Amino acid sequence: MSIESIISKIEQNKEIYVEFLRKLIQSDSVNPPGNEKNVALIIEDFLKDVNIKTEIFPFGNNRANLIAYLNENFEVKNLLYNGHMDVVPPGSETDWKYPPFSALVKRNKIIYGRGSSDMKSGLAAMAIALKVLKELELDFTGNLILNAVADEETGGMFGTGWCVENPLKPIKFDFAVIGESTGLSPLPKAILVGEKGHLIIKIRTNGISGHSSMPAMSKNAIYMMSEIIENLEKIDGYIPKSEPPIKLEKLKKLLAVAFPTEDIFNRIFNEQPELESLLQSLVSYSKALTMIKGGIKENVIPDSCEAILDVRLLPGQQVEPIIEALKKLITNDIGYLVKDISTSPSEKVFVEIEIITASEGSYWENWEESEELNNFYELVEKIYEKKPLFFLLPASADAHFIRNDGYCPQTILFGPGKGRTAHAIDENIEILDFIRAIKVYAIFAYNFLSKK
Ligand SMILES: [Zn+2]
Repeated sequence: MSIESIISKIEQNKEIYVEFLRKLIQSDSVNPPGNEKNVALIIEDFLKDVNIKTEIFPFGNNRANLIAYLNENFEVKNLLYNGHMDVVPPGSETDWKYPPFSALVKRNKIIYGRGSSDMKSGLAAMAIALKVLKELELDFTGNLILNAVADEETGGMFGTGWCVENPLKPIKFDFAVIGESTGLSPLPKAILVGEKGHLIIKIRTNGISGHSSMPAMSKNAIYMMSEIIENLEKIDGYIPKSEPPIKLEKLKKLLAVAFPTEDIFNRIFNEQPELESLLQSLVSYSKALTMIKGGIKENVIPDSCEAILDVRLLPGQQVEPIIEALKKLITNDIGYLVKDISTSPSEKVFVEIEIITASEGSYWENWEESEELNNFYELVEKIYEKKPLFFLLPASADAHFIRNDGYCPQTILFGPGKGRTAHAIDENIEILDFIRAIKVYAIFAYNFLSKK
C-alpha cells in the first residue's frame, strides 16, 4: 500500500519536481569557483515546508555543503544519499543549441542545460525522495540522510571528503548511493560498484637558457622533456603489478546481461572497438600526457618546460609507487636529477615532479553477496522496465571518500542521465528518466528503512 502511495504522490507532483530541477540547473554553481551555496539554499527551501531538518555548512566564498535528515534516529539503520551541487563550466555558450543555464524544456520530454545530467537531476531526485517519504508520514525504523556536496568537480576534498570527516563521521552508514548519471545509452542503466583513482602529475624540466644561435652553450628544457616522453612507456616496468577488481572475462559477462543473448553480445563486441577499449580501461592502469608548455621567445633556448601526466589508477593501486616509478625512469634511464618540489636545487639542470591531485580508486569487494544491492537491482529493473547491469566507473567520483577506510564500503553509483552527455555541450536529461530515478530512490529508501 505504501509503495503505491509513494508512486502516486510522485506521479501527481511531476510538474513541481521538474520545476525544482530547472531551478537547480538555473542557479549558478559552476566550479571553479563553486558558489554551491546558491544550490544549497534552494534545496533547503524545498525541504523546509515539510519540516525536514536541514543543516548548511558554509565555507570559502559562497560555497557550502548541506545535510538533511528524515528523522532524528540514527540507532537502527542509516542510508546515505549523496550528490554534488557543482557543475563544470559550460565552455563556449554559443556552441550550445540552447543557453546552458536556461534549463529549457523540449517537447515536454527533455531538459537541456549544464548540470542537467551531471548531476543536478540525481541530486534533485534524491532531495525529492526524502521529501516524499517525509510528506507521506510513513513509519521508519531507520534514517535517510541526504548529503548535497560542493567541490566534486575539483577533487571533493571540501565536499564529500570534508563531510565524512566532520558532521557525518559519527553516523554509521549501512548503505550509500551517489546519484551520478549512470546511463550507458544505448545500453541500459548501470549500477556502479567501483571507480578508478585519479592522479595528476606536473613534470617540469629545468635546463639552461641561452641564445639560440649557440645552442650548445645551453641546455634545452624542451629536449629534456622530449627525452622523458620518448621513454615514458618504460615506466610500466617500474610499477608493481595491480590486479583489476573484476577481470576482463567477468566484465564482459556483466555487460552481456544487457543483450538478448551472449552470441549477440559477442558479435556486437567484436564489431565495436570502443567497447573493447572501455573494458581495457577498467582492467588496467592508464597514463596520458595531456598538456605541454615550454619556451618564451623564438630565439631563446628554453630553460623550462612543463607537462601534465594524467594517470588513472586501478582500485587498490597506490599513488606512491607511481611517483617512485617516474623518478626511477628519469634518474636511471635518462640520467637527470629529480628534485622534490620542496627542496631547492643546487644544480641548474634537473627535473621537478609535483602532484597536482591524487585520489585513490575504490571498490565494494563483496557486492555480489549483498541482499540489499540485489533489492536495488530488482527495483531498478522494475521501474526502468529493463535489466540494469553492474559495472565499474572508468573515471573517478566521490565514492572513494565513502568506501575507503571502511567507512561505508557498500556504496554504489546510480542516477538519472547518460554518462556520455556529462561535461558535454547540449547536456540534457530525459524527464522520464528523472521521474523514474525519484521512484527508485524513494521506494528503495522506504524498503530499506522500514524493515525491522
Ligand atoms: Zn558528477
